[in-house]
Amino acid sequence: MSTPRTVLVIGGGAAGNAATILLRRAGFAVDLIEAKDDWNATAGSGITLQGNALRVLRELGVWEQVEKSGYGFGAVGITAPDGTVLHVAEDLRTGGDDLPATIGMQRPQLQRILIDAVRASGATVRLGVRATSLAQSGDGTGVTVAFDDGSEDRYDLVIAADGLGSTTRAAIGITDKPEPTGMAIWRVAAPRPADVTRTDLAYGGPAYIAGYCPTSESTLYAYVVEANRDRAGLPAASYADEMRALARHYGGHWPEITETITDPAQVNYTWFDRMLVEGSWHRGRVVLVGDAAHCCPPTLAQGAAMSMEDAWVLTQMLAATDTWDDALLQAYYERRIHRVRSVVEASVQIGQWQIDGVRDADVPGLMGRTMTMLRERP
Ligand SMILES: Cc1cc2nc3c(=O)[nH]c(=O)nc-3n(C[C@H](O)[C@H](O)[C@H](O)COP(=O)(O)OP(=O)(O)OC[C@H]3O[C@@H](n4cnc5c(N)ncnc54)[C@H](O)[C@@H]3O)c2cc1C
Repeated sequence: MSTPRTVLVIGGGAAGNAATILLRRAGFAVDLIEAKDDWNATAGSGITLQGNALRVLRELGVWEQVEKSGYGFGAVGITAPDGTVLHVAEDLRTGGDDLPATIGMQRPQLQRILIDAVRASGATVRLGVRATSLAQSGDGTGVTVAFDDGSEDRYDLVIAADGLGSTTRAAIGITDKPEPTGMAIWRVAAPRPADVTRTDLAYGGPAYIAGYCPTSESTLYAYVVEANRDRAGLPAASYADEMRALARHYGGHWPEITETITDPAQVNYTWFDRMLVEGSWHRGRVVLVGDAAHCCPPTLAQGAAMSMEDAWVLTQMLAATDTWDDALLQAYYERRIHRVRSVVEASVQIGQWQIDGVRDADVPGLMGRTMTMLRERP
């Protein structure tokens, strides 16, 4: 019997967890290292998962849990800042007609579902561990990795899923870095008023966007997007006050939501970034997936979807051949780049139109074209 191929996955977010589950199913030996001791099991407020993300989650075998924990819906409301509904658009079912158009979820719930699936897959998981060096073998058939716990191992392939600040990307000589788009977001989880049954987005007012999305029967997540500010002038203790000061200008369900924004520790402030690594996503036997290769503002809510699609496509390609070489990893990039570039460019463009105050921008047209493209299988 031949020895199974060995893979190291660096980073246990959406991309790394998905890759690990699928590689184990294909029979490979997988080690996953994750820098955070708690594997990010409690971090974050909410996430919007569209059909094409749900299609990958179904492939991972966790669709039933996702459906049960999240809140499914099929439309988005566009409102004036005072809450008057201007337009309700049906969401396209990008994952196919047998999946909802959209599921809102609490981020920690999604992470815990994926953690359970990784644990059940039989992968070896080490938390609180980082790689300190990666040495490609002279014959190009593997990588020797040293870890910060003093251990060392050799792998046939390393998958870098360590997110937008990926140190693995830098370690293999890819110099791209995320760049701020000029926008930032305030986010918080809150109780769901009974008649919030879809995402509502208000454009304009004191911020660019104020929106909320149901994440379960009892919760939603709410966000306000504005021009990014110097973080040095924003102490964490002021976060609830800052978000409330923006949110109180909005109508609809905002007054109810705003009342609950009291604990600064529950409010998250993040700048939007963009990055797209072009040309190839690998060097030797180290290959990037997810935000390590590309990131964009969440104006289309497609970052995690693209990240999990990368993992799905790459692992299918790895499982389909015994020859893991430069041509295979380049073919993975070629298969992904058009789709990912379209999403990154559209996401950035939608934000830029708001920054530039372009009133007649064809946002629905660009969204519609991008979502139609995403209905195709990756
Ligand atoms: C404000 C905001 C809102 C968003 N909303 C949505 C949305 O609604 N829908 C959507 O689809 N996407 C959304 N996204 C995008 C989405 O969050 C990302 O695209 C997705 O999380 C990327 O997954 P990933 O696994 O590539 O990276 P990450 O989720 O960042 O995971 C990387 C993991 O690697 C670990 N790590 C980092 N460095 C190391 C290291 N050196 N060694 C080991 N481990 C390491 C980290 O701790 C982390 O667990 C949003 C992004 C932002 C900023």
